[in-house]
Amino acid sequence: MYGEFKLEMPQQLDEALALIAEDPAEVLSGGTNLMIELRARKLRPEQVVSLDALSELRGIEVDGNRITLGARTTISDILRCDDMAEFGPSLLDAANLFAGQMVRNMGTVGGNIACSSPAADLVPPLMSLDAEITLVSSKGTRKVALCDYYLSYKKDVRAPSEMITSVSWKKLAKNSSNSFYKLARRIGDAITVTGVAVTLTMDGDRCTTARIALGAVAPTVFRATNAEKILEGQILTDDLITTAAQQAKAQSSPISDVRASAEYRLHTVGKLTHRLLTQARDKLV
Ligand SMILES: Cc1cc2nc3c(=O)[nH]c(=O)nc-3n(C[C@H](O)[C@H](O)[C@H](O)COP(=O)(O)OP(=O)(O)OC[C@H]3O[C@@H](n4cnc5c(N)ncnc54)[C@H](O)[C@@H]3O)c2cc1C
Repeated sequence: MYGEFKLEMPQQLDEALALIAEDPAEVLSGGTNLMIELRARKLRPEQVVSLDALSELRGIEVDGNRITLGARTTISDILRCDDMAEFGPSLLDAANLFAGQMVRNMGTVGGNIACSSPAADLVPPLMSLDAEITLVSSKGTRKVALCDYYLSYKKDVRAPSEMITSVSWKKLAKNSSNSFYKLARRIGDAITVTGVAVTLTMDGDRCTTARIALGAVAPTVFRATNAEKILEGQILTDDLITTAAQQAKAQSSPISDVRASAEYRLHTVGKLTHRLLTQARDKLV
């Protein structure tokens, strides 16, 4: 059963920020992670601050070249957005394989980022889109590139008095391809074994920008920057893609757990990176 805690239901963002500035608190968004941790008493907060009434934190906005998701935007909201295939194809790939319907209806993008799990499925896609998050406290606002947000396993740069209010990224360039592959023990409602998100932008047959974000193969989701550097500025031959995929594997440091061995994760991260890069190149050239 749950321990005792005080549940606050602020009606305004300022009120929520004041509450988390005063006393240590857990923020409650969709609750699909937090309620489990509270019930298992892994977390024993004195105060839980619900974001339920803060409707301004939910929604998908387009402002010129920039897409912004409010932190309380749910996985189902992403799936319902007609333009998501254009705005963030990899995010749509992730949403399509995310949990089951009930969790999709409640789970939010802010909660997925904030739980700092290496297996959080929205994070590799957002990292492959060069997303940045907005952190707000009663003292002010700052933006952090998502690729700089995680420090180590379940540790990030967010202060206890800060809240994620949104995540945003620039629209994909026309000559870009962006996708995500989730490998798990079954399709749907399964924790990721290996997650790979890739963005390639090409100028003719030369790669101008490469982004490779890897999930569940290290203590945090991370960008395989060494592999990206191998591709950028180059004509993407099969050999070059093979070298980049090997480099992505070399940058990974997975653990063995109930879902897969470290060896299997290493094998699959190389194979999937190779597959997604090849598919992206073949689509664009
Ligand atoms: C059956 C089941 C299946 C699942 N399947 C998947 C899956 O396929 N893929 C996947 O990635 N995850 C999965 N999850 C995990 C979970 O659903 C997701 O991580 C979800 O996105 C969490 O969002 P939430 O809104 O429910 O977060 P919450 O549980 O409300 O919060 C999670 C943590 O983030 C903090 N937090 C939440 N919002 C904010 C904010 N705006 N600012 C600062 N901190 C905040 C909370 O304090 C808490 O510590 C699954 C969970 C369950 C129970």
